[in-house]
Amino acid sequence: DQLILSKMVKICCIGAGYVGGPTMAVIALKCPNIQVAVVDISTARINAWNSDTLPIYEPGLDEVVKKCRGKNLSFSTDVEKHVAESDIVFVSVNTPTKTQGLGAGKAADLTYWESAARMIADVAKSNKIVVEKSTVPVKTAEAIEKILTHNSKGINFSILSNPEFLAEGTAISDLLNPDRVLIGGRETPEGKKAIEALRDVYAHWVPVDRILCTNLWSAELSKLAANAFLAQRISSVNAMSALCEATGADVSQVAHAVGKDTRIGPKFLNASVGFGGSCFQKDILNLVYICECNGLPEVATYWKQVIKVNDYQKTRFVNRIVSSMFNTVSGKKIAVLGFAFKKDTGDTRETPAIDVCKGLIGDKAKLSIYDPQVNQDQIQRDLSMKKFDWDHPVHLQPMSPTSVKDVSVVWDAYTATKDAHGICILTEWDEFKNLDYQKIFNDMQKPAFVFDGRNVVDAEKLRKIGFIVYSIGKPLDD
Ligand code: NAD
Repeated sequence: DQLILSKMVKICCIGAGYVGGPTMAVIALKCPNIQVAVVDISTARINAWNSDTLPIYEPGLDEVVKKCRGKNLSFSTDVEKHVAESDIVFVSVNTPTKTQGLGAGKAADLTYWESAARMIADVAKSNKIVVEKSTVPVKTAEAIEKILTHNSKGINFSILSNPEFLAEGTAISDLLNPDRVLIGGRETPEGKKAIEALRDVYAHWVPVDRILCTNLWSAELSKLAANAFLAQRISSVNAMSALCEATGADVSQVAHAVGKDTRIGPKFLNASVGFGGSCFQKDILNLVYICECNGLPEVATYWKQVIKVNDYQKTRFVNRIVSSMFNTVSGKKIAVLGFAFKKDTGDTRETPAIDVCKGLIGDKAKLSIYDPQVNQDQIQRDLSMKKFDWDHPVHLQPMSPTSVKDVSVVWDAYTATKDAHGICILTEWDEFKNLDYQKIFNDMQKPAFVFDGRNVVDAEKLRKIGFIVYSIGKPLDD
């Protein structure tokens, strides 16, 4: 119990990714008395964290890192040294969906977690608090405890679940001003002391009434539940958008009216081409798997439908583009504006743009893609990657190299749209609202189409210029 309060606390985080990097940078910023080391097996990532070009784009991150790096924040590949020296070890490694074996297509792949846990047990020479920062299946702490205690050499480990709720694109402000911080631990005296120790860290800047302490399983499950609820709202409004298009209702008006109900609230009700990102689909699939393993197939089916509606929304969008453009996009240039899964991030993991682009390439379109934060290598990699079909866990064929050749990646919206037959907006970057659409119209083939997958442009203004505009869930042009 004297562990934390009697000496300088040292923290280390295994995994210098989208979560580990920003989270630790903010802890370092707010806790100048704490030494924070972020470690990773990827030399490229650590080198980037130590350079002027950080490995991830996140508003405000550069400033925080520059302020703390070299003082109480360091980035290193010397994983074992920093783990051995730390009192609190966060583990924020990736936990992707398993692609083969038992639970393929649904269960979380805990390989990285297990090897991190074995390494911690191996190098630890003093008692440690091990914190689950990654999103993991409920009951993972039990497995981690077994691995640690069976491999420990007389050392005590306390496991905490402290899931991260930051959203990419707003990570720094989310971390500085979180809705809540959740800490789950064992209800033993040691468990309670460990919870206190982590609470002391967050209490440097988070009001104590926002620090929620629960049992381990509630904390683990709350993270999966929160992501499932958020994704479900998107699928609910997207399902309504299809009905709006069929009936002449306007999804923005419907969402506004529905969201005015204080029991529902207005946030996360924007209709779109679908959700993406590395978490929502993965975490819901994980939830589905856990339900199935616990003999709850009806509950599993309920959550599965959230992903099915998301897949349907992407397919519906591609079909709308092709059918509007006289049933073929073969040989036609289509400008794709935005590739990241949301604005203010360069992250393309599970972005709906991948499925939409592949759908258009499948119909032999020629794509010209522009995203302010995603480079050509990343886009080519994403489009040539095998797609894992979670519903039928077999790998589909990768796209042939020739079809990826029909994709060019450019560095501004005007080059992308020049001579194009259609524009397809897939990320809600602010700059897409204020482009010179008259100039773009003049330089395009006619009729010139806009398919707004994020409802960011002023459709009426564009129609006045002469565009044929499709907005998700809105009354269609005649
Ligand atoms: P990421 O892939 O960006 O980062 C994970 C890092 O862990 C990688 O750099 C990898 O090299 C490193 N790593 C893997 N095994 C390691 C090992 N044994 N030793 C040292 N380093 C190792 O992933 P991320 O987006 O930061 O997500 C991490 C976890 O946080 C996941 O479980 C995810 O579900 C969860 N999460 C993500 C977000 C998000 O917005 N990205 C939000 C909340 C929670």
